[in-house]
Amino acid sequence: MAVDKSNYLSSKLQNLEESATLRMTKLARELKGQGHDVISLSIGEPDFDTPQFIKEAAKQALDDGYTKYTPVNGLPELRQAICDKLLRDNGLEYTPEQIVVSNGAKQSISNLANALLDPGDEVIIFTPYWVSYFDIVKLAGGVPIAVKAGIENDYKVTANQLQSAITPKTKLVIFSSPCNPTGSVYTKEELSELVTVLDKYDSLFIASDEIYEYINFGERHTSIASFEGVKDQVVTINGMSKGFAMTGWRIGYTAGPLWLAKACTKVQGQVTSGASAFGQKAAVEALKAGASASQSMKESYLRRKKLVQSLLADIQGIKINDPQGAFYIFPDISYYFGKSNGSITINDADDFAEIILHRAHVAIVSGSAFGDPNSFRLSYAASDDRLTEAIKRIKNVLKDFV
Ligand code: PMP
Ligand code: GLU
Repeated sequence: MAVDKSNYLSSKLQNLEESATLRMTKLARELKGQGHDVISLSIGEPDFDTPQFIKEAAKQALDDGYTKYTPVNGLPELRQAICDKLLRDNGLEYTPEQIVVSNGAKQSISNLANALLDPGDEVIIFTPYWVSYFDIVKLAGGVPIAVKAGIENDYKVTANQLQSAITPKTKLVIFSSPCNPTGSVYTKEELSELVTVLDKYDSLFIASDEIYEYINFGERHTSIASFEGVKDQVVTINGMSKGFAMTGWRIGYTAGPLWLAKACTKVQGQVTSGASAFGQKAAVEALKAGASASQSMKESYLRRKKLVQSLLADIQGIKINDPQGAFYIFPDISYYFGKSNGSITINDADDFAEIILHRAHVAIVSGSAFGDPNSFRLSYAASDDRLTEAIKRIKNVLKDFV
């Protein structure tokens, strides 16, 4: 048998968590492989296919010979399309040199962390956070600092909390709005209060992850970079995966100060080079169409949100939030901690997710993966029928826990 020498792995790697969203999705796949009817609501991925006109643009690009390396920071026409989009949708003025196209927004965040962080630099992460922020920061040598908001504040961090968390070592603040995992959206007023704090620290940077921008059920999306005073500190992160249902295409991007764009390009140039050429050409067409390309998907997400809320509200002890964007709901299930069905006890959110997977055959993700041990994340990017069936099964399992 092959000897396991994993103790030789770097200490950096030994401290790295596996992505919990991807792990749950893998477990669900395995159970399915054993013949079980598993409903997978664990991964944050649109269940829609990429719109046809975007696929056609990629096919055309292949025929036109877009099969070679592109500039590391992206094709000039895509960077121009991103600038046009940022001006049209967000009132933000950037030049194409300030844009870096990456292999997904995940790489955009990783580039930024590697470009900015020295060992020991602190990174404030609004919590609940998207699962990979913590480990991307750790891999880059930074120290993640979770600043936590609970369901009672719609999972949103206040300016006072932010102010109290800043130390001389703070280099970066990361948050997403609309938020993965909670679906919360920071209003213009709330962002403005955060800006009042951030504006005081010239050497503090802000990674604003706006990848769910087009899946926003409330007021018009506001980019934090649009506030006077902080634009030089902000790197706006966005991408094609969510709004355009293009997760497999691997195209994300950043807009930020020129010196940081150059640094991120340098990092990427040594790690992966540019994103796929024909994917970038297709992204140009997607961005030209903008939010109109995802309007019908957004309407479906809103309908499903309401469905899921009404079904979950009917389960004893579950406290639900009212997400204003993305396609997640993040119910608080702490009521069930310590409750038993006679043979097993739910001690925490990890137990909860595991019991629901094995007894209800529904894959969700424990809140602990997102820094909140009282909750779980359910992705409602699934059909109405599957969502209805999933919540019926969850309810059925939970009724025995007293
Ligand atoms: N940020 C957030 C908040 C996300 O939910 C995701 C989806 N995994 C990403 C970034 C990364 O997206 P991608 O790499 O697919 O562009
Ligand atoms: N962003 C998605 C999620 O949160 C995709 C999975 C991942 O990249 O971790 O589930």
